[in-house]
Amino acid sequence: MNRFSSIVKKIREIYNEPEGFIPLHAPIFLGNEKKYLGECIDSTFVSSVGKFVNIFEEEIANYTKSKSAVVCVNGTNALHLALKLAGVEEGDEVITQALTFISTANAISYCNAKPVFIDVDNDTLGMSPNALAQFLEKNVEIRSTGCYNIISQRRIKCCVPMHTFGHPCRIDEIIEVCNRYNIEVVEDAAESLGSYYKGKHTGTFGSIGVLSFNGNKIITTGGGGMLLFKDKTLAEKAKHLTTQAKILHAWEFIHDDIGYNYRMPNLNAALGLAQFEIIDKLLFSKRSVAEIYYSFFKTEGINFIQEPENAKSNYWLNAILLNSKDDRDQFLKITNEAGVMTRPVWRLMNELQMFSDCITDDLNNSKYIQDRLVNIPSSAIINE
Ligand SMILES: *Cc1c(COP(=O)(O)O)cnc(C)c1O
Repeated sequence: MNRFSSIVKKIREIYNEPEGFIPLHAPIFLGNEKKYLGECIDSTFVSSVGKFVNIFEEEIANYTKSKSAVVCVNGTNALHLALKLAGVEEGDEVITQALTFISTANAISYCNAKPVFIDVDNDTLGMSPNALAQFLEKNVEIRSTGCYNIISQRRIKCCVPMHTFGHPCRIDEIIEVCNRYNIEVVEDAAESLGSYYKGKHTGTFGSIGVLSFNGNKIITTGGGGMLLFKDKTLAEKAKHLTTQAKILHAWEFIHDDIGYNYRMPNLNAALGLAQFEIIDKLLFSKRSVAEIYYSFFKTEGINFIQEPENAKSNYWLNAILLNSKDDRDQFLKITNEAGVMTRPVWRLMNELQMFSDCITDDLNNSKYIQDRLVNIPSSAIINE
């Protein structure tokens, strides 16, 4: 017996798994997955041309109330393309949060731009609009060609807030700040399909939003991503760039730009469409699991991360805050050794060697969270 054994016991009870391994987040397939995949194979349309790709785009656009949605092979590539479309160029700076998954910062690097890491809010775990405003007030000036960092002399073209673990950040305030400085906003909504801020779906506030359908996300296509647009023309440009910038012609190969092979194959979209059909069940179950955790951790005196004010979260990954880094390390050891998968939050981006020379603010909240937060098993539970 140890001080975390009641938690291990509770998690085993929730997942009705007295002894076996409990993963952090497992996908659930219980609808038309096999049927649609079979249809793909029978039709021979397994690559990027096929009906499921287009239907999946339409469904996600409707669901999120986006003007247009464009599929991608994964969320990281979708972010890369979003930054390109937002006008990020070599030598620019792109502001994001230090507390994020590596994809956000990598996508910035793919554009040969430099990330700038800003702190998060303690309640949302997403970019802090106050920290952002303070950073910009101190460090930038507006010129005719855009917003410039007066110290590095780089142009700040874009800002990429992220909705951590599906909890919406203060995206309206972030956009208001960015508008004042002429900075584009690309939302990394990779983790937040099914999450809303003030009644509006995450990923639809900025000029472009990005979703991921990786195997561990709320619904999966195996691997996949999606770009969400307010602007139809920009969406058409995105689709063009994801398909090698090939001009439509019955037989000629003419390309009018350096494009990418980024369009999601039909096989993945078939899986995604079947998954999308059960999203309400998944979201309902995830909320129930979060409610059980909330009540339990309340009696344990442990801080369970709840959806922020004005937000409805998909509760993609549940998280708790422990008292200290030592506590966190002990918790990780005990739970993982007991076959209950738990994970610390990502190492802050600026602490990784590739990004160690990037500009940051004080990152006080990010550091606090890094030392104390752990994710606990969060899979949906659906009994047929
Ligand atoms: C999952 C994720 C992505 C994209 O990941 P892919 O695996 O490339 O689909 C991007 N940003 C964040 C924050 C993520 O969690």
